[in-house]
Amino acid sequence: MKNLTSFSASQIAQEVSSGNIKAEEVALAHLERIKAEDPKVKAFITVLEESALISAREVDLKRSQGKKLGKLAGVPIAVKDNILVEGVETTCASKILKGFKAPYDATIVEKLKKEDAVIIGKTNLDEFAMGSSNENSAFFKTKNPWNLDAVPGGSSGGSAAAVAAKMAPLSLGSDTGGSIRQPASFCGLVGLKPTYGLVSRYGLIAFASSLDQIGPMSRNVEDAALLLSSIAGHDLRDSTSSPEAQTHFSGTPLEKLRGLRIGMPREYFAEGLDAEVQKSVWNAVNCLKTMGAEVKEVSLPHTSYAVATYYIIAPSEAASNLARFDGVRYGYRAQDVKNLSELYEKSRGEGFGPEVKRRIMLGTYALSSGYYDAYYNRAQKARTLISRDFENVFKEVDFLATPTAPSAAFKFGEKSADPVAMYLSDIFTIPSNLAGNASLSIPCGLNKDHLPIGLQLIAPAFEDEKLLALAATIEKAVNFPQLN
Ligand code: GLN
Repeated sequence: MKNLTSFSASQIAQEVSSGNIKAEEVALAHLERIKAEDPKVKAFITVLEESALISAREVDLKRSQGKKLGKLAGVPIAVKDNILVEGVETTCASKILKGFKAPYDATIVEKLKKEDAVIIGKTNLDEFAMGSSNENSAFFKTKNPWNLDAVPGGSSGGSAAAVAAKMAPLSLGSDTGGSIRQPASFCGLVGLKPTYGLVSRYGLIAFASSLDQIGPMSRNVEDAALLLSSIAGHDLRDSTSSPEAQTHFSGTPLEKLRGLRIGMPREYFAEGLDAEVQKSVWNAVNCLKTMGAEVKEVSLPHTSYAVATYYIIAPSEAASNLARFDGVRYGYRAQDVKNLSELYEKSRGEGFGPEVKRRIMLGTYALSSGYYDAYYNRAQKARTLISRDFENVFKEVDFLATPTAPSAAFKFGEKSADPVAMYLSDIFTIPSNLAGNASLSIPCGLNKDHLPIGLQLIAPAFEDEKLLALAATIEKAVNFPQLN
């Protein structure tokens, strides 16, 4: 018996294209797996059983007519529920969007469909992508497939858990401050935050527009490269997407590492870092050293300002982006109101959860007249300094290697009562969003509780291909186990 849910995306695409397996079989196998695993893991908000089977059959029909199939022929893909898929409910895991059906496809979803992918469902997230554990979803908590008592990370926790539990070989996440990389790290996956501007965000429900990026989550580097090749590229409908965006990525390991310079930023190996995480990251970097890379300590002196800077800029942008959810145009609308302002107040009051309200209040405060200079403007200046740190360090080294998160997956409830403790779980991922660099998380080991540990690699903007190549080299050296 073929174990289709253990196939990689690249294998599925190849086998479907060559006619060895049918896209329909692949879809059925994954839907069955979802039925068996998702009641425990709870990765999906919506499972698209019917439409997945219809699109799989269309792929098979196309092949039987002798037409050439796309790069993702028959590959099931799980999509974070803040990305629009036409006709499908898109909730951002918020009560305020319950019942909102997407009127069109996001550009990247359009591209996936063109490449003959099969959209299998919409995955859970922290409400409006605000959070690091999935505990902020208004609906339910997604569990970590490696240990159901542990969080999957966030905000793309559903996308991570779906792939780790083999309910899909690939998923899409969005990353504003770490939301692809941190859950990838917690669930033992590859998660890439592409360079800002590489992937169109048209049809992504915006959280913080100067930081948001969409990217792939997968069980291996080759699959991440395959998905990135399908979604990258300039889009006239997203003015921040780059006309120079590259569109082919291979994820082939580097042949030789001699001459490659890797920096370990001192500020990322400081107090608060879990000892097992530190050890695993060092082990992986030492492998690269043995293979000929030059490894040295470097400094990004403004790192300690990153979290504070992010928690001014991201909420400010969120406060503005989320103003459109007013109870009139989308989703939830409060009943029994006397006038328009009460409609706004009640709809927003009842529709948004506590973390989203906290961010809206923080952002509104930071942008208000009299405080704007002290907070928002200052944060923008700090952001420039943080970006310059990277520009400077990339004159000395080609890549940075750091832990993705300060610890492996934590338990439910461990940080949810303390927002600052939760915010600090993104301390190593946030700087790349502020600077717009390419960065990814790759599994580099397991801790004593058998939970995955992630290594973060950071590259200069638009070096995504080289970043994937280096990640593939590490993947080969580390030989990380998969869940059964
Ligand atoms: N955890 C961070 C936050 O809560 C990052 C979220 C994200 O990247 N979407 O804002």
